[in-house]
Amino acid sequence: MKIIRTRHLAMPALGLGTWRLAGEACMQSVARALGLGYRHIDTAAMYANEEAVGRGLRASGVAREEIFLTSKVWHDHLDPAALRRSCEASLAALDTPYLDLFLIHWPAPGMELGAALEAMMRLRREGKVRAIGVSNFTVALMRRAVEGFGAPIACNQVEYHVLREQNAVLHFARAHEVVVTAYCPLAQGRLAEYPELAAIAAKHATTPAAIALAWLLEQDQVAAIPKAGRESSQRANLAALGLHLDDADRATIAALPKNERFVDPAWAPAWDKAA
Ligand code: NAP
Repeated sequence: MKIIRTRHLAMPALGLGTWRLAGEACMQSVARALGLGYRHIDTAAMYANEEAVGRGLRASGVAREEIFLTSKVWHDHLDPAALRRSCEASLAALDTPYLDLFLIHWPAPGMELGAALEAMMRLRREGKVRAIGVSNFTVALMRRAVEGFGAPIACNQVEYHVLREQNAVLHFARAHEVVVTAYCPLAQGRLAEYPELAAIAAKHATTPAAIALAWLLEQDQVAAIPKAGRESSQRANLAALGLHLDDADRATIAALPKNERFVDPAWAPAWDKAA
């Protein structure tokens, strides 16, 4: 497994996303993924599956210290007391003494970012979380967090795949030791619509999904967390770690549309605002 190392964390580059997994299916998917060799699991308070994820962790028999576990606080819980309660509820549901990474799931309009980050840092000092970070933060918001408030932001989890560029976020992140975790790395199943990807996949005797993951995983400081409930998908996504694209593949992928955004809720920030 490729490990991304920064001064804030050591994160397996490929993780298992768990959004929309619930109950027994979630528990079994998490346990099976860990059995196959995954060591990074992504959940969130909002997914309402932390208890099942926790059971999956225990059922796998893999030691807690070997697993990189991320959870997130929802954007209506960013005042310090609510943020702490959310973190403690996540720890209780997951039945674990600590998270490896705790993220602000979405910025909230009008949030007191400094107070939220101070509460995150306090949880880090207490050992309840090992690293802190954000999700769906624009460059302007990342700059406020990192430069304005001096927060040790370890990660920004954003939508990133072959149909969505994130050049500005990546540029800022790499300059500040922030890992970019790509969510929806398989474009939520829409890759099949692109014959260019099918052609690259045929050349490598694999699938468009594996090509899309290989493209992300070869990038510096980029992790990917495909959701895969099926064992076949979990295995295929692991195998993508061993794929190597060539310059012709990269040029073909670079020419695909790069402005698709599949997760864009009403509370999303102004994505393209420069400052
Ligand atoms: P995704 O990972 O791009 O796509 C998931 C879909 O792809 C599922 O239907 C899955 O099917 C299928 N799939 C997985 N591996 C495959 C393979 N090798 N071949 C073909 N199909 C495959 O989309 P996502 O679930 O929206 O995003 C991934 C994770 O990112 C989420 O689970 C969540 O943890 C995180 N996320 C975070 C945010 C945020 O705001 N921070 C937002 C969205 C998502 P099966 O399950 O049937 O195998």
